[in-house]
Amino acid sequence: MSMDNQAFAQCLSALPENPTATDYRGAASALLPYIEANVPPMGEGQSLSRLRFLTGVAHRDLGLARLIEGHLDATQILREAGCPAESGKLYGIWASGGPADTTDMTGGAEGEHGSARLTGAKPFCSGSDIVDRALIYVYPAEQLLDVDMRGAGSRERLRFEAGEWRSAAFAETHTWTVRFEDFPVTEENHVGGPQWYFHRPGFCLGALAPAACWAGGAMGLVDAVRQRKLKDGHARAHLGAMVSSVCSMNAMLRWGADQIDADPNNTSGTLFPSALLVRHHIERACTETLDRFGRTLGPRPFAFEEANARRIAELTLYIRQCHAERDLEEVGGYLEKHPQFCSSSQFPILPGK
Ligand SMILES: Cc1cc2nc3c(=O)[nH]c(=O)nc-3n(C[C@H](O)[C@H](O)[C@H](O)COP(=O)(O)OP(=O)(O)OC[C@H]3O[C@@H](n4cnc5c(N)ncnc54)[C@H](O)[C@@H]3O)c2cc1C
Repeated sequence: MSMDNQAFAQCLSALPENPTATDYRGAASALLPYIEANVPPMGEGQSLSRLRFLTGVAHRDLGLARLIEGHLDATQILREAGCPAESGKLYGIWASGGPADTTDMTGGAEGEHGSARLTGAKPFCSGSDIVDRALIYVYPAEQLLDVDMRGAGSRERLRFEAGEWRSAAFAETHTWTVRFEDFPVTEENHVGGPQWYFHRPGFCLGALAPAACWAGGAMGLVDAVRQRKLKDGHARAHLGAMVSSVCSMNAMLRWGADQIDADPNNTSGTLFPSALLVRHHIERACTETLDRFGRTLGPRPFAFEEANARRIAELTLYIRQCHAERDLEEVGGYLEKHPQFCSSSQFPILPGK
């Protein structure tokens, strides 16, 4: 094992079996030098290595993977915007919208204090009081902001609403609602111009990362089955099917990564539907793994095995980040307009001349 891989393995093994938010903060911070030195960006020829790194973290712990996935997404976005991330700082990205998101920017250069103000609540902020900085998408202004969550004065302009998160799954990632109260923002906080976040070529590049984490979570469950002496043919059949899912998830991640490396600026326009195909496949494979895991081992791991019970709960929740049939409808709509997309002509069924 190389020194770097050893450092990675040490960071993961140092994480306790039942991590607290403080443990997550410590483990994520310890991983940052490794990430900065070894984890390649998306779309520059080594996208698969980046996805495999995430799968490896998720195989160890899904909560840590959720935090690291956000960090990698944020730092990739900053790179694309031409404003590199601060070394050694842990980032989050909070772009969730919907009715619970009431964030808005008021005032401006001419405002009361010479700067605009960020106000309102942002739901689903993973690592809310764990990260150092966060990229926050403000829908009414269509603006992505890079905000210092720990700077002098920041903390008194923020409130963390912990009580809304009722699930034990991911509880220690502090995926809370963050309420901003007159939080000052200047041009320096802007990342790209209005709408840049959604329209940049790299938007699709981050879409595979959650799927890589889901896959790692499922692989952890499969390994928990592999480590046991199986009692009957049914259990062995389930294991065979689960290992088949592991192989197909790996193959889909490789296919998605290849698409990105071949066309990082998405000139073909196919990266988004491709990412949706990968995400769908992995979500289904995880759902099947969760089902087969229970059918193989019964209720005991759900009830008596802390690490497996937590992994099952977290994977079940994490895969809900896919937008299910809403995503499939998008793929179907794309296929109506682009009938050649992923057709047999692209995957030839007859050998070429
Ligand atoms: C563990 C976890 C961590 C996350 N961390 C982050 C993060 O750090 N940053 C971030 O930006 N996002 C984060 N997210 C949020 C995520 O990216 C999505 O924003 C989130 O999945 C919610 O999207 P959605 O409700 O639109 O769900 P979708 O699956 O897109 O849609 C659900 C649909 O159900 C409908 N619906 C829901 N409840 C009801 C109801 N009671 N009655 C009728 N209809 C209903 C909704 O209107 C919607 O149409 C996280 C999510 C999870 C699960």
